Amino acid sequence: MRLDKLLANMGYGSRKEVKQLLKQKAVTVDGVYVKDAAAHVDPDKQDVSVFGERVVYTEFVYYMMNKPSGVISATEDLRDETVIDLLEPLHQHFQPFPVGRLDKDTEGLLLLTNDGILAHNLLSPKKHVPKVYYAKIEGIVTAEDGEKFAQGVELDDGYVTKPGQLVILASAEQSEIELTIQEGKFHQVKRMFEAVGKRVVYLKRLSMGNLQLDENLALGEYRELTAAELASLQ
Ligand code: URA
Repeated sequence: MRLDKLLANMGYGSRKEVKQLLKQKAVTVDGVYVKDAAAHVDPDKQDVSVFGERVVYTEFVYYMMNKPSGVISATEDLRDETVIDLLEPLHQHFQPFPVGRLDKDTEGLLLLTNDGILAHNLLSPKKHVPKVYYAKIEGIVTAEDGEKFAQGVELDDGYVTKPGQLVILASAEQSEIELTIQEGKFHQVKRMFEAVGKRVVYLKRLSMGNLQLDENLALGEYRELTAAELASLQ
């Protein structure tokens, strides 16, 4: 592959900007400065570095984000900040998109990728990928609510949910729960609680399939998936 194409593909700028980098002696191939944009390199076999940092050639990217409240799970929005706006320009270059949506006020695990097949498999209703949410609920959540969720509850539009598994962590004026669901209907967790006369006041996604939120990520932070995490999703 041409050196300028490789660097442009990896987000180091347009071909023109990459030419400037090469002129500045910012790029080495196997430790030797290269200024020729048309030089051919094999990124799998050769060490291509920019300012001393090795360029790892990838087509697909996979990021786990701890989504903060107040940010939209979309690639663009006219009014609000999106999860893509939280990514560094180099990572935005790969054009990742969020796998599924979390509400603006929901926090927690969000997978961002440009791998359409993986996204499709995780979102397909046929695959029944479980998602675990932690929530604070206004009102006393009871074992009876858990039984109703286990049967499936009727939402405001008449849709009856597939069974969900409720774990009550604290049952009080403000309860704390974990709920596992295998679907992703619009506002599903909030609407399931509405169906039993209660209100979600805080919602956070903890996991999606085998992927668990890394609790070391502060709100708004993200990191690449490890090879093991990625393998666990496929
Ligand atoms: N269920 C909801 O109600 N909101 C979310 O963001 C995710 C699941």
